[in-house]
Amino acid sequence: MTPLPPGGCIGILGGGQLGRMLSMAAAPLGYRCHIFGPEDPPPAGQVADRVTIADYLDRDALRSFAESVDIVTLEFENVPAGALEFLSHLVPVHPGVKALATTQDRLVEKDFANNVGAPTAPYAAVDSLDDLRAAIAKIGPETGSRAVLKTRRMGYDGKGQVMLDQESDLAQAWNALAGAPSILEGYIPFDGEVSVIVARGLDGSVSAYPPIANRHKNHILDTSTVPAGLNAIQANRAIATATDLAIALDYVGVLAVELFVTGDTFLVNEMAPRVHNSGHWSIEGAVTSQFEQHIRAICGLPLGSMALRGQVEMRNLIGDDVDQVPEILAEPGAHLHLYGKAEVRAGRKMGHVTYVKDGSDIT
Ligand code: AMP
Repeated sequence: MTPLPPGGCIGILGGGQLGRMLSMAAAPLGYRCHIFGPEDPPPAGQVADRVTIADYLDRDALRSFAESVDIVTLEFENVPAGALEFLSHLVPVHPGVKALATTQDRLVEKDFANNVGAPTAPYAAVDSLDDLRAAIAKIGPETGSRAVLKTRRMGYDGKGQVMLDQESDLAQAWNALAGAPSILEGYIPFDGEVSVIVARGLDGSVSAYPPIANRHKNHILDTSTVPAGLNAIQANRAIATATDLAIALDYVGVLAVELFVTGDTFLVNEMAPRVHNSGHWSIEGAVTSQFEQHIRAICGLPLGSMALRGQVEMRNLIGDDVDQVPEILAEPGAHLHLYGKAEVRAGRKMGHVTYVKDGSDIT
């Protein structure tokens, strides 16, 4: 297993802010990046060596892309698994098809987690209104008749989800998802939400940041804080869950695992086969950022230290939060990251800001 030498080119499927921050982390390691995706223009393209704007299923474009890169990775988990499969016959692809296919489908993902011994909320497949009624009868009594109906695929930031309680009109809920294959999940009255970002190298070495506490606003990540305020037993348990999942997926790269905390129990909510919004603080707040760590892992380099540099908080700048940029820049110690998106839209992630309190600042 020879590491990719400096000068090599990394192909990234997806051109959003994650691809942008991956490209920026690849540069100091001597690598170039080639962005591939349908978005025109891609925010990542501003900092990449090359850009191909094409559909993920355009085989001619995928073939030329594969010829121009040494390795392929992704920053967007809804890249069709067929595109990754096609590329994997031409060039090394990390993470691989198994990880992508497992994490793209909430039902497959939950079955996988439970088989690995990582518990989830109770759930059932829903492909019809009758299935929904049967699922409520099965799961409802366990969770006080509160449940969440979610599409199996393509949901993010609360999209493709309907919360249900005893009063809900099930036919209306089912129609809201337009007949998409779905799952019903029992509602978990959690103490908090954390994520664990774990990295696994080509040689099988594994490392993780301490668990990250995440708060959402309108279903979109608002703030991430590290340390998360868990005790040592809880923190070790959360990290062990994420590590078990990465090993079972035969994963190479950075994997994010979102968990619901209920006492000392951690329930897997979802996994993202990529760098994750809840890890953006690591650019300034950790010895090795999640972006550099992902590049190291997929290129066969040794993993870096995932130790913290202090107490860290990251806040997303969503929609017109970007109007606060002058005030943020006036704050000493605020690290601003804007994603180069021309159009401000409600709910759109425009940037983030990170604050690190090192040992001398902690009060
Ligand atoms: P998801 O898209 O599955 O990550 O869900 C978005 C957010 O909705 C989560 O971060 C939780 O805050 C909330 N949520 C999703 N599923 C459940 C559940 N089964 N119980 C309680 N809250 C949930």
